[in-house]
Amino acid sequence: MKKHLFCFLLLAIIGYSAIAQSDSTIVQPNDTLMAQVDTITNNPKVAVDTSTTEPEIKEFSLIFTGDVMQHDPQIKGAYNPVTKEYEYDSTFHYMTPILSSAEYTIANLELTLSKKPPYTGYPTFCSNENLAVSLKNSGVDCLVTANNHSCDKRKRGIVKTINILDSLQFPHTGTFLTQAARDTLYPMIIDEYGFKLALLNYTYGTNGIPVPKGTVVNLIDKVQIKKDLERAKQSKPDKIIVITHWGYEYKSLPNKQQKDLADYMVKNGADIIIGMHPHVLQPMENYYDTLLKKDVVKVYSLGNFISNQRRRKTDGGAIVRIELQKQDSVVTVSEVGHVLTWIDRKQIGKRMYWYILPASYYEQHPELLSKASKEKMDLFIDDSRKLLKKHNINFPEYVWKEEIGNWVLK
Ligand SMILES: [Zn+2]
Repeated sequence: MKKHLFCFLLLAIIGYSAIAQSDSTIVQPNDTLMAQVDTITNNPKVAVDTSTTEPEIKEFSLIFTGDVMQHDPQIKGAYNPVTKEYEYDSTFHYMTPILSSAEYTIANLELTLSKKPPYTGYPTFCSNENLAVSLKNSGVDCLVTANNHSCDKRKRGIVKTINILDSLQFPHTGTFLTQAARDTLYPMIIDEYGFKLALLNYTYGTNGIPVPKGTVVNLIDKVQIKKDLERAKQSKPDKIIVITHWGYEYKSLPNKQQKDLADYMVKNGADIIIGMHPHVLQPMENYYDTLLKKDVVKVYSLGNFISNQRRRKTDGGAIVRIELQKQDSVVTVSEVGHVLTWIDRKQIGKRMYWYILPASYYEQHPELLSKASKEKMDLFIDDSRKLLKKHNINFPEYVWKEEIGNWVLK
């Protein structure tokens, strides 16, 4: 039976130190490590555990990451002058075992994609399509695209992003080429391993850039959201997930609009609310609503998954894992937890590299980090734990347990 742990993985001890010590301009992750990652990635994501004598219980785990952003220095660092390609695999390398351990992993793509330059950072984001390829290779199964940067490159940006994701067969939702496409494709239904989930995605706005005529970017609109939730319910999903781009930037607690909207969506059918945008973590809640008679999960902000923001609290984020259990057609939230992630930056040769690291593992392996990185990561961990310990409701942290070589709930 699948354990209530991540089913994987020794992370990157060898690989990270090898990369750290390398002076090569091309980062090649350690072969042995990659073989381990391949084994994990290629394993079918088996969610079913059956027994002939016991009632059938199916399990399905979901993972959500925060904002995927690319500022100018990251774009510059991703370019390999030897291959003349933009390379992002190393950024996600140390998260791959975790991201690929869930039955379904969803990330927020907070930029537009293109096959050709110019690639740009703040304030109008556009990255090479290889970023999406690397996200997919690292175990991300779906991207949400409705956020304040959806319209950064106007209509062409929306169209190119959607076409690139479609060409990669990378499921996505939140923005649409036409209203007709939205009518057909939305709400998105995830139907995998005997679980059916509806996925919705909205943003508070698009930085003052009007949504280009003909295209659709899902904006937060209570009337529309209620209609969409009604439509989602018609598919009879086991759970309805809403990913919302909202809140005040750099605020560690949700504002009244976030709380009110979360309650409104839960009242109208949503079960799992995942928030993005503030660039810092905000609290997470997991409880049984006795009036609505259902499990409710609310995560107000996951912070930055990858970005070049380095200020205190912005240089990391969290991924959350939600495990669902189905027995006799009843689906419950059987376990939730979060993994703190921290972004390290390293100059190797002429290039700068960005790495997302599972913080608890590196907390216990300080020898793998520079002194400066260790100090910054420890501050991020400390700030995050203080906030989440005080405000989270039934939403513990997964920490690395060295003795068993795996992650456990703290
Ligand atoms: Zn945003």
